[in-house]
Amino acid sequence: MNDMTSGRGWAQIDLGALRGNVAALRAKAPGAAFMAVVKADAYGHGMVPCARAALEGGADWLGVATPEEALALRAAGVGGRVLCWLWTPGGPWRECVEADVDVTVSAPWALEEAVAAARAAGRTARVQLKVDAGLGRNGCQPDQWPALTAAARAAEKADLIKVTGLWAHFSCADEPGHPSIARELGVFRTALDQAAAAGLDPEVRHIANSPGTLTLPESHFDMVRPGVAMYGISPVPQVGGPADFGLRPVMTLAARLASVKQVPGGHGVSYGHRYVTPGPTTLALVPLGYGDGVPRHASGAGPVLVAGKWRTVAGRVAMDQFVVDLGGDAAAAGDEVLLFGPGDRGEPTAEDWARACGTIAYEIVTRIGGRVPRVYRERG
Ligand SMILES: *Cc1c(COP(=O)(O)O)cnc(C)c1O
Repeated sequence: MNDMTSGRGWAQIDLGALRGNVAALRAKAPGAAFMAVVKADAYGHGMVPCARAALEGGADWLGVATPEEALALRAAGVGGRVLCWLWTPGGPWRECVEADVDVTVSAPWALEEAVAAARAAGRTARVQLKVDAGLGRNGCQPDQWPALTAAARAAEKADLIKVTGLWAHFSCADEPGHPSIARELGVFRTALDQAAAAGLDPEVRHIANSPGTLTLPESHFDMVRPGVAMYGISPVPQVGGPADFGLRPVMTLAARLASVKQVPGGHGVSYGHRYVTPGPTTLALVPLGYGDGVPRHASGAGPVLVAGKWRTVAGRVAMDQFVVDLGGDAAAAGDEVLLFGPGDRGEPTAEDWARACGTIAYEIVTRIGGRVPRVYRERG
């Protein structure tokens, strides 16, 4: 047990569960390599400890969005293959090449920057090319792809770069049967054929995120690239919960009550008095708020396990705290409460919070902020 659990609130991170999730996901894609996506501070779980646990659990690669995240992994001493993909002109291309990070290129300007970085660093840059198979976000438009692959092949022949991967990202893989899935797989296959015709022969071809890994074997290619499922959250809650896929939620968000007091009926609660006590009752104060990542949209809606029962946030979530009405039940300042976790102690899950707030569980865990200490445990 860590001292932090005597504090205001904390996020317990079960690294044993994370390793188990990597193993469960690997078993769904037995022929494919595994890239553990640890962007956005590992979806709020803590990037470096989760990256290490994922590698121990059998991950082959780490994936992050930004070059700064990739460099932070290296600065922490994390080795192995790391891919990053969200670049802007003038980014730390040379630093990434020197740190042995694989960089993603979606456009000619980015290829030029990777080549310039290789020249400056005096070593070959490892480059992965990304095609836009239909998501309409980053990635090379298919009509520009033959030119991009030809230019990449020319740079490869000059020993300036090595194309290590070809990849794309789905738009609607979390809606099984969506017509875009087959269409995007078709665009990706055509792009792979065109790259081969240009003379490229990369190590890995990959498109599968968590839903692809769990529900679309035809999307696995050489590598899968799951994020949210590794943290034990179902990417397709309409199909099944974590346990249905052999996954276990990694984060438990807990707090200690900061105040418990009796109030009369008709007492307004929190800013705007959006909740008024229906009669004499007990109010408990949970010292976490939107400054900690508890969504303000959870006002009047978010579920919390207090004194053995589910209670709902009473009134508005404030920056640092919110209130629950215990309806006369006994509790004391210092009692532990659970906002969400795996659910085995009867607590709500991140998915329950997502439903209460009109969002996805990805956002619930990812937005838990830096003011909430992470407490790492092997087993929750
Ligand atoms: C975030 C991300 C992933 C992981 O997505 P999940 O749905 O969390 O599995 C994979 N690939 C890319 C490019 C991403 O940005």
